[in-house]
Amino acid sequence: MSLLYPTLYLPSITRLQPKQLERWGVRGLILDVDNTLTTHDNPQPHPEVLLWLEQMRSAGISMMILSNNHPPRVEPFAELLELPFTADAAKPLPKGFRRAAARLGLPREQIAVVGDQIFTDILGGNFFGAKTVLVEPIQLEATWFFRVKRRLERSILRNYNRRS
Ligand SMILES: [Mg+2]
Repeated sequence: MSLLYPTLYLPSITRLQPKQLERWGVRGLILDVDNTLTTHDNPQPHPEVLLWLEQMRSAGISMMILSNNHPPRVEPFAELLELPFTADAAKPLPKGFRRAAARLGLPREQIAVVGDQIFTDILGGNFFGAKTVLVEPIQLEATWFFRVKRRLERSILRNYNRRS
């Protein structure tokens, strides 16, 4: 079960502070796109997200995008944010995380994975051996597949919150 628990759970990615990363000894972030940096399939980042990225950059944090969505969605978005990226990442499988860590040039202990989904971002990041930050999805998805996943996530989070 603990592989499904994030190191930290935040209401939004913009609440992640350089000070927290410093405490962990984290110098790089692997970022999810959909419902983490913006709403699903939205080509524009949230304005607050742009400010947050600047804050991270000035703190010397390296960042890279790792998304399970397809290149036509991920590539223009990553270019807009001026971040390196991998699309079709097949999270939670370790391959994409390994490649992202190599791209960041950092060991896994110095990386945090940030995303809105327990079964892709958090499970994959924990299994890889990085710190994990779960953020609340910016907007809940309407499809049945996502609704089932979100319900499972809620029951996991209830246990997670009870634990602390
Ligand atoms: Mg996502």
